[in-house]
Amino acid sequence: MTDPLMHTERHRSQVLKALLWITLIGGLFFSVVNALNGNNLLAALELTYGAISAYMLRIIDRTHRLQLLTTIYLVPFFSIMILAIGQTETIFAVFAWIQTIPIICYMLLGVRLGMLSSVVFVSIGLWAFSQRYWAGNWLPNLEIVTNLGLASLLIMALAHIYERSRLINEKRLTELATTDALTGLANRVKLAEVFERERAHALRNATPLSLVFLDVDHFKQINDRFGHEVGDRALTHFAKTLSQRLRVNDLLCRLGGEEFAVLLPSSTTQLAHNIAENLRERLAQEPLGLNDEVLPMTLSAGIAELGKDGQTLDELLLTADQRTYAAKRAGRNQVVAWDEQPALHQA
Ligand code: GH3
Ligand code: MG
Ligand code: MG
Repeated sequence: MTDPLMHTERHRSQVLKALLWITLIGGLFFSVVNALNGNNLLAALELTYGAISAYMLRIIDRTHRLQLLTTIYLVPFFSIMILAIGQTETIFAVFAWIQTIPIICYMLLGVRLGMLSSVVFVSIGLWAFSQRYWAGNWLPNLEIVTNLGLASLLIMALAHIYERSRLINEKRLTELATTDALTGLANRVKLAEVFERERAHALRNATPLSLVFLDVDHFKQINDRFGHEVGDRALTHFAKTLSQRLRVNDLLCRLGGEEFAVLLPSSTTQLAHNIAENLRERLAQEPLGLNDEVLPMTLSAGIAELGKDGQTLDELLLTADQRTYAAKRAGRNQVVAWDEQPALHQA
């Protein structure tokens, strides 16, 4: 799973699970305590909440609507908390729960919604808490509430910084894991991820999906003649030249070495053949400039289409690779799209 959104979803689902266990245990325990203290309203609410938490724990792994489940969980959770904080029958120590609000909000709802809900619920919590002591001496009470408010603000700032850097780092790591360092193109991991998505889309909508395998011709000679560094520049030139010719939804990736692939959504073998021919011509027309010299580059390519040539990425890559090999045998600088080239497509 390389999609940052998917990581975040999994992360939040784990946080919610931990909270559900705490509220299940806490709900049962405090419903008994409050019942013994004669606070039946709170006891009933806590017991109900414990039961809801137990039910949510059962369905959380199956749900596709985590955000909705989180909201269903949080609103009554904070409401019961605030009710407990505001009631004089409950113990003074319940105020400690206010400080969990920012952490819970940020971890479950992300930066923006987390900040908004923290401010709303902490403010209501502080207001409820202040109601309980306001009748007495106002100065010490103001001190208590201000202390609690400032401590909550600090926790909110820390939660904000933590969640922001977690998201940024997750995005950066995902990018690193799915990008080829030399050319900046997508790598094989990204291709596998996008292929699964495009395959599902193609099957659902009965649209074609094709894959082009590309291999630079005589690349070893470039390395041998000009050195590895120029070889690297040639690969970057190859990536840039081809990228400029593709549609936004086409995915060009570097498989490794001097081998590349292009995933072409909504493209039949025929269309993929035309696109690959276009890429081949473009590369042949745009050699790499080396000070006073020009370094001609050509490619050989093979094409495979979902359904006709296989169902999985590995099957399509294998067929497209075999056809690339056929293009090499036939003299390089050409595209092979069929095992038996139809008369129409023969050069
Ligand atoms: P063909 O036309 O049959 O494909 O010949 P070729 O020379 O392109 O193929 P071969 O597979 O023999 O050589 C590929 C070369 O690519 C060998 C290797 O040294 C070089 N290579 C692989 N990765 C890199 C890289 O990241 N940078 C550079 N400069 N060279 C690389
Ligand atoms: Mg090769
Ligand atoms: Mg090669």
